[in-house]
Amino acid sequence: MAELARCLCSLPANFKARHSWHAVTRLSLSSLLKLRSPSSSCFSSGSCLLSTLSAAPGGRQPKVRAQVSTTDIRRTIADDALLQQFEAVIGIETHVQLSTATKAFCSCPSRYGADPNANICPICMGLPGCLPVLNVKVVECAVKLGLALGADITLNSKFDRKQYFYADLPKGYQISQFDIPIFKNGAIDVDLPVEFGGGHRRFGITRVHMEEDAGKLVHAGGDRLSGSPYSQVDLNRAGVPLLEVVSEPDMRSGLEAAEYAAELQRLVRYVGISNGNMQEGSMRCDVNISVRKKGDEKFGTKVEIKNMNSFSAMQRAIEFEISRQVSLHGEGQPAKIVQETRLWEEGSQRTITMRLKEGLADYRYFPEPDLPEVVLEQSFVDEVRANLPELPEQKRRRYEGMGLSMQDVLVLANDYDVSNFFDMVLVAGGDVKLAANWIMGDVAAFLKNEKLTIKDVKLSPGALAELISLIQDGTISGKIGKEVLVSLLQDGGTAKNIVEAKGLLQGTPSFLAIFLDLRQSSTFLPQKFSASACMKFAAHY
Ligand SMILES: [Zn+2]
Repeated sequence: MAELARCLCSLPANFKARHSWHAVTRLSLSSLLKLRSPSSSCFSSGSCLLSTLSAAPGGRQPKVRAQVSTTDIRRTIADDALLQQFEAVIGIETHVQLSTATKAFCSCPSRYGADPNANICPICMGLPGCLPVLNVKVVECAVKLGLALGADITLNSKFDRKQYFYADLPKGYQISQFDIPIFKNGAIDVDLPVEFGGGHRRFGITRVHMEEDAGKLVHAGGDRLSGSPYSQVDLNRAGVPLLEVVSEPDMRSGLEAAEYAAELQRLVRYVGISNGNMQEGSMRCDVNISVRKKGDEKFGTKVEIKNMNSFSAMQRAIEFEISRQVSLHGEGQPAKIVQETRLWEEGSQRTITMRLKEGLADYRYFPEPDLPEVVLEQSFVDEVRANLPELPEQKRRRYEGMGLSMQDVLVLANDYDVSNFFDMVLVAGGDVKLAANWIMGDVAAFLKNEKLTIKDVKLSPGALAELISLIQDGTISGKIGKEVLVSLLQDGGTAKNIVEAKGLLQGTPSFLAIFLDLRQSSTFLPQKFSASACMKFAAHY
């Protein structure tokens, strides 16, 4: 099993992805907390035997060595005047890996990170004579996302076989949905980051359909694949459920595309169907880009970009690709924009040719004969709808209505757990603006330093609300409040108990009375000292 797909191939593994958040899509709490290392990516060599399969139609096309042409290197950034004459048209196909306990059509665990081929059975290995059985949780997840996207549900959908040959797909076909997807015609609402000019956008969703993932080829040997003697197949991922979300070509810039993807990630996390982690491959985006002269109706030739493992990389890849295509127009050579799949090369910050598309792939779809139609009861759909949480867009509008700035709204609503914590602080009586400031300020800083999430700390929403009110009513100063907060984050408890236990009360009746008496009787203290100034003074002692 381990060496099922031996081939002589090589691949520069672990190419270093560069963190560059200068164009981060959103100043989010999570981005403040940690910058995760993108997983390594790799390309197989052109000499790999598998490259002979490159003509095979298939969603999981063989990986072919990236061909770097001198023209790619020569083309840099088109100048602004030229760029202004063109408009980019961007659509995104996203695969979301569902967080179900078991795979789509068998009872194998779908857990990420298990030993290779630990989670397999005859069904997901594609052995003959096996019958798939649909995991109802997959349908539930699809309904949750489709409803969250405001899409039209198809109560009677079906599965189809998508045929292609590749070494990580032992069945020779993928179970997917073709002409009757479970959802069509949805939309995603996005608020662009304030630092990039802000603004609200709505991007259309063409369809959402259910399908299974294929396995994975693991190229072995050293930290570079070149010189590796063989590749191995890991079928743990085979049969893991996916939702494919296809957008309308509504995005016009790298920023809009990255924000679309970030909002989709937020949605899948809010509705609890996936961790949406791009580094683990739980969310994979293929971006189609073309450019056309402003005012033109006709679309230009579209180019697909793969291999982006962060929103930041996606934005930079798209911006490079727009510039490359516009440059070709500027040089009078638009014919050199060909229908192809390109890879984003992080090291050189450019896209490079992966393979040309010589025609539409023929997947020879036909209805999956081993699975019945997917027939949904309206009552089931209604129940799922009734149990959907408040969605990011609804949350942003609510926060906006509470008087928070858009900057604060975006940071707070970005993370489901953070926004829930914030909401619970408000329920416990915390002041809106002060609660937002504490969460985005000292709490976020603590989480970042300690590499923790809001769910990992012992601070309760009630304790933060109490801390805020103790500062508001002058019981403690803001400075003491910061000390109390650290104690609450580390050890939990209530703000009052910590203040009393540590003797942090500001202006306790006796001390404050003495101080005020002193102020009135003393000649060395200026009479103009206000009570609040005295309390601030007292807080230092
Ligand atoms: Zn299985």
